[in-house]
Amino acid sequence: MPARTRTPLPCLVPLLLVCTALLALVAYLLGGSPTARAGDERTVTATGDAVGEAPPIACVVIDAGHGGEDGGASSAAGVLEKDLNLSVAFALRDLFEAAGVPVVMTRTEDKLLYDRNLDFQGRKKVLDLAARRLVAEKVAAEVADGGGVCLFISIHMNAFPQPRYSGMQVWYGAAHPLSAEVAGRIQSAAVAIMPDNHRKIKAAGSNIYLLDRIQTPAVLVECGFLSNPEEAERLSQEGYRYAVAAAVFAGVIAVYRTDKPQLR
Ligand SMILES: [Zn+2]
Repeated sequence: MPARTRTPLPCLVPLLLVCTALLALVAYLLGGSPTARAGDERTVTATGDAVGEAPPIACVVIDAGHGGEDGGASSAAGVLEKDLNLSVAFALRDLFEAAGVPVVMTRTEDKLLYDRNLDFQGRKKVLDLAARRLVAEKVAAEVADGGGVCLFISIHMNAFPQPRYSGMQVWYGAAHPLSAEVAGRIQSAAVAIMPDNHRKIKAAGSNIYLLDRIQTPAVLVECGFLSNPEEAERLSQEGYRYAVAAAVFAGVIAVYRTDKPQLR
């Protein structure tokens, strides 16, 4: 018998259909540059505020949280946040790249990003976060001249002492006005895969280092709670992680949906 894939086929089929539809939508939305649709007026945002034309996404920096000796949160079954973060980040990367959006990953391996040549004792986490910030700022600087923005998306899993809490929650940085809208659209898109999720987006404080410091549009997606056994089980499934990535992708793309396709 040939080896079977780990993800059951019945689970993949609807996901592939969803992704095909998403890519078709992306092709429709990004077929003309936002500048070409400058006459469109955007009046609705996730936060209810009217904003102008969203600057084009020149690139996306995808940040898989934790890594290496920093496992992040863990489930009762021993699933580590760092591994799930990287898996969702890879799926998200594939979706953006399929849509023609350049992607930079802060990490593609199971490791923290501190410089091993520095005196890192007791400072691994601080140096790691600084390195992630540096990646985002470097890429943003490279695209700034073209008038586009570089969107920073950090992927994490949540945990709480009480196991009853569940659901995706999106945090956003305050430095760029697009951050809140991207966060709101992702939060809305997540309802498609978790209908009972009524969580609201939240502005990050100074305690979320990367969102507090990065000046480009920046969001942090807590994909779900590893402290909730049912949600931890779902997040352990590759197909569900792909659905989570598709929701994040769909939310970002929705920011650029300035008009709706009409059926004739
Ligand atoms: Zn985390």
